[in-house]
Amino acid sequence: MFSRPKSTIARAARAFATLSLAATVAVTGTISALAQNVPVVRDAEIEALVRDYARPIFRAAGLPEDGVDIVLVNDQSFNAFVAGSRLFINTGALMSAETPNEIIGVIAHEAGHIAGGHQQKLRNQLERAKTMAIIATLLGAGAIVAGATTKSRGLAGAGMGVAAGGGEMAQRSILAYQRTEEMTADRSAITYLNATGQSGLGMLKTFGRFQSALSLSGAQVDPYRISHPLPRERIANLEVLVKQSPYVDKVDTPALQQRHDMMRIKIAAYMGGKAAASRLMRKNPASLASQYGDAQTSYLFGDLAGALAKTNALIKAQPKNPYFQELRGDILMKANRPKAAAEAYAKAVSLDPARSGLLSVSYGQALMAIGTPESLEKAVVQINKGLGRDRENAVGYRHLAQAYGELGNIPAADLATAEGHFYSGAYKDAKIFAMRAQMKMKRGEPGWIRAQDIINYAPSGKKK
Ligand SMILES: [Zn+2]
Repeated sequence: MFSRPKSTIARAARAFATLSLAATVAVTGTISALAQNVPVVRDAEIEALVRDYARPIFRAAGLPEDGVDIVLVNDQSFNAFVAGSRLFINTGALMSAETPNEIIGVIAHEAGHIAGGHQQKLRNQLERAKTMAIIATLLGAGAIVAGATTKSRGLAGAGMGVAAGGGEMAQRSILAYQRTEEMTADRSAITYLNATGQSGLGMLKTFGRFQSALSLSGAQVDPYRISHPLPRERIANLEVLVKQSPYVDKVDTPALQQRHDMMRIKIAAYMGGKAAASRLMRKNPASLASQYGDAQTSYLFGDLAGALAKTNALIKAQPKNPYFQELRGDILMKANRPKAAAEAYAKAVSLDPARSGLLSVSYGQALMAIGTPESLEKAVVQINKGLGRDRENAVGYRHLAQAYGELGNIPAADLATAEGHFYSGAYKDAKIFAMRAQMKMKRGEPGWIRAQDIINYAPSGKKK
């Protein structure tokens, strides 16, 4: 599930995080180094799980629950923020939560802020902003700009855009929820949790942890703790509300807890390496989540035969789990067996209730690797299908451009390259490729019109 710009290394070592928005990733060849460089993590399984956490809460809050885009921010600190239809959540927040309920509580609190109209002006601003710009804001514009020299051009561009385009103001005002707004959001959160039959204990645990951590000197400051002030009386009030609920003792279903455990082990394996995954697995070595972690670490650290055997055992235990099939596909790709990988990804696509575009793109990549004209045609169909559901997947466009190129359809390849640059925020390059595509297209055909849109696009706050 880890896609990056195509190269021999990328082919051999497909991994977990896709830099979906920045233009290029320095291919470092090691997972951990890469993990530090990508601000956005793309993963079908985690995105689907967090969406499943959010959906009932959003419904209870009267917010649009369909098409919520989950943006996983690769940062170890705790943060979660909703902007329009995008829910930004740090991997650090997911890692720190032992139960789904802890994350669901935080999402309920966020939903309370939205339903209460808090920070509406900022929200409107962010709703229009590109995902990268918001991430720059959430991580701190300064950090992104500082990192720009060693990082990709796309990322640098995003950082500078933020600094120049009022991002610093947004950064400051994000830190400004009022105490009364916090109380309101807490009360609303309890309402949504009650409406969905869930406990508020997870939220209380998370917020309680922030409060106790305040006394630690030198500890990393979580952005969430700064933006959501936690005076002592807030926790006390929240505790009363939580304990009044008829659902206070309700725990997450075993199936949901299992998905949560699998997610945490996956994040640990990909972001923290073997040791981090082992720490989680030690708690319950026989669990399916631990077996999953074991299969992933085998895959990541080069024991492909072992990884395949372990993944096959997982598939036997849960034949309908699309992500076990996805892992099987990843392993087979790394083992240079694209035909078998394509079969595994095809199964993953057919089993995935969330219909993730990422899985279709992976399937398309395996078809491309098979390399026959028929498989290339099929690859184009699959990748287009995936991108149709996941417009901002810049890496997907790169694969699409390559597939078109290998088929000799150069205008379509140029347009796909233009799209990839466009969604990376590299507008100048996007325009160059859009113009190149147009020269070989019929005026007014759909591709020509899309190219024209890219040529005409003016990033907000900048003159064309
Ligand atoms: Zn808050």
